[in-house]
Parts: sequence; structure tokens; C-alpha cells
Amino acid sequence: MADQPARLSPVLKQATPVLAARGEGVYIYDEDDRRYLDFTAGIGVTSTGHCHPRVVEAARRQVGTLVHGQYTTVMHRPLLDLTERLGTVLPEGIDRLFYVNSGSEAVEAALRLARHATGRQNAIVFQGSFHGRTMGAASLTTSGVKIRAGHGPLMPGVVVAPFPYAYRWGMSEDEAVAHALRELDYQFATVTAPKDTAAIFIEPVLGEGGYVPVPPAFLRGLRERADRHGVLLVMDEVQTGFGRTGRFWGHDHADVRPDIVITAKGLASGFPLSAIAAPAALMEQAWPGSQGGTYGGNAVACAAALATLDVIEDEGLVDNAARMGERLHRSLAQVAEAHPVIGDVRGLGLMIGNEFTAPDGSPDTDTATRAHRIAADNGLLLLTCGPYGNVVRMIPPLIVTEDQIDTAASIWADVLKQTAG
Ligand code: PMP
Repeated sequence: MADQPARLSPVLKQATPVLAARGEGVYIYDEDDRRYLDFTAGIGVTSTGHCHPRVVEAARRQVGTLVHGQYTTVMHRPLLDLTERLGTVLPEGIDRLFYVNSGSEAVEAALRLARHATGRQNAIVFQGSFHGRTMGAASLTTSGVKIRAGHGPLMPGVVVAPFPYAYRWGMSEDEAVAHALRELDYQFATVTAPKDTAAIFIEPVLGEGGYVPVPPAFLRGLRERADRHGVLLVMDEVQTGFGRTGRFWGHDHADVRPDIVITAKGLASGFPLSAIAAPAALMEQAWPGSQGGTYGGNAVACAAALATLDVIEDEGLVDNAARMGERLHRSLAQVAEAHPVIGDVRGLGLMIGNEFTAPDGSPDTDTATRAHRIAADNGLLLLTCGPYGNVVRMIPPLIVTEDQIDTAASIWADVLKQTAG
């Protein structure tokens, strides 16, 4: 256990008092060797589990060979091999990519590429979107006002359209989709003319904004409008990519073609690496040197990413995410039946949210916060999300087993009894 050190800026707020000493698979161990079931995966990063032996071995080997081969100066084998390998998993027609280090940087890069390629300025995002904390990415983010408050003026040219959040709106999914698409058309008619609009940014599952899967019909509606208006559809797969949702890409659930794909998190099992991918015709619009950075495509991170993709494939982790996700979803829905404070359980694959709602329908942040803390006390690490912090989310490594799912669900049932009592 460790309290946050006073010298560490409170801007880095620690949600649990756990002092992690080591990680192994789905578990984190603290310095007293107490074991925690990690259903956070470091915010959706350690998809292959903590310290997967094949990822560790690949990184260890690379550390002793070449750590930093700066790719605008010299090329190196891990980057070449990873680029080839990513070519086999990227959506059809998306055949060019480059690397930076984090999700936010990749979002910025996608925005700059979209502006450059279209010669247009504006971007459309959806209420509750999270795209990052750097200035451009924060300008696209509306998952909670803390990211924006006091930081203005943010980047101009960002239009926020309603997200089809059926539960919050008290509508059926079909009604929510129809309403949100009508409102989007209204934005095109009143705020951002198609000829001024470079891109629509969307997460296939609204992530930090509350773990709300995008209805497939909505994504299809966006594709149709993007085609009609010559606007690029940018899929932010930072949290949903690499099998997290039970399909390789989150947008596979809707069978919709993106124009730009943004990836990070699950790509390299915890090593900082992100990639932006687009069709050649689009990518060729960017001037050499206009994008990139010193560390992007770091050799150790690329080697870890290659091993990560091998593990995902060899261990069938995409299918496992689908099966374990269903199992977890079922158990959580049962727990929710006994606890009306959980108004909605939703998600795709191993990306599941439990939304806490007070009897009057308002967000119950206090109970969600208490449940999150009690879960950590009971050896289950979870995260909260949503603009009000009233959604407790579960996002375990994709290697999670039936036993671990059942243990987590039974701890969760106990946690709710303790939370109520
Ligand atoms: N996009 C999405 C969908 C995310 O979930 C996140 C991180 N939670 C980001 C972008 C930003 O990534 P990073 O924290 O690596 O900058």
C-alpha cells in the first residue's frame, strides 16, 4: 500500500493505494506479495497479460541488440518486420502507416493528416468522446470537463454532435441512432458545411465517456455521410483495437470501412507505441517530415509489438475475448438484477461497463466510487469512467480464463453487498 507522495503533482491522481511490485498474467502483486486480479489491464494496454514470457523475451533480446534506431536516420529490423506484420491485420485498403508513441500523439497525427489530405479544417466528434490530453486531442475530447476546463482556448473547428446513448436518453437503440443521425445532418446544415469538414472522429466503443458501444447502424450512417460529403471517417481504435472487443477491430462489429485508423494501447503490451494507418492515396498527401517524432517506432517497442501480435494469433486471444466477454457480461447482468443501483450493463467483448444510477435516474457517482474502492480492498482492480464517474468498467487482459472471470464476478457480487451495507 502506498499513499500518493506529496512531491508527485496531484495532476497524476492515483485511484487505489496499491503499490505494484510485479505483474504476472492477469495478476498484479504488491510489495507485500498480496495478489490483485487486474481487470484494468493498465487502461486496456496489457492485452497479453503482465509480462507475457514471449513479449518479455522479445523485448529482452532487442534491448541487448539495438534500443533506439531513429527511423528517419536509419531503418531497423523490428520496425520493418512489424510494418509488414501490421499489413496483414489492417482493414482492407488501409495499406500505409507510421508510428508515434501514445494515443494522443496518434490522434493529433490523424487530425493533421486529415486536414492536410482534404484541405479542410473542421472535425466532428461525439459527446463523451475521449481522444487524448494534448492540445489538439483535448480539443476533440468531451468525456469530462476536467480535460478542458481552464485550458482554453482550445483548437477551433471542432463540432460536437450527439452520441446515440440509448440508456441515458431513455430511448431504444433504433430511436437513439435515428435521432443522432438527424442531429448530425443538422450540424452539417447549420454549423460545419461539408466543404469545411475534414473528418469525423469516433471510438467504436465510447471509452472514457462511459463504455457505450456505438450501434452498428450509427457507424453505417457515418460511413454513408462521409462518402456523401467527401469527409474522412477516422476510427479511434486506441482502446478497442487488437481484439479487445472480441473482433480484431472494434469497427468490425459494424462491417464499416474507415479512412484512417488510430491504434495504441494493446499494440505493444505496455511498451509505448502507437500507429496511424490510412490508404496510400491519402497518406501520400503528407509531406515527408511533416509527421513523426524522435522516439516513434522505437526498436524495443516494435519487437514487443511483433511478439504481441504473435501471442494474439497463436493463443486465439480475439476469440477468447469474445467468449470470456460474453461470460463476464452474463454474470454482471445477473449481479445487476439483484442490485437496482446498476441501471445498465453493456459492452463489447472484454470491454464492459456497469452504470450506477440513483432511483431518480441521476448518475450515482458516490456508490460507483465506493464499489470501485471496495473492489480494490477485495483484491479486484477496476476502473471508473463516464462524465460523472458513475460507470465501473472491467477491461481484463485478453488472456483471462473462465476461472478468473468467475472469481471476478463473485468478488463483484460481494462488493455490491458490502457497498449496500
Ligand atoms: N483515444 C482513446 C479512445 C483512448 O482511450 C485514449 C486513452 N485512454 C487515447 C486516445 C489517448 O491515449 P494516450 O493516453 O496514450 O495518449
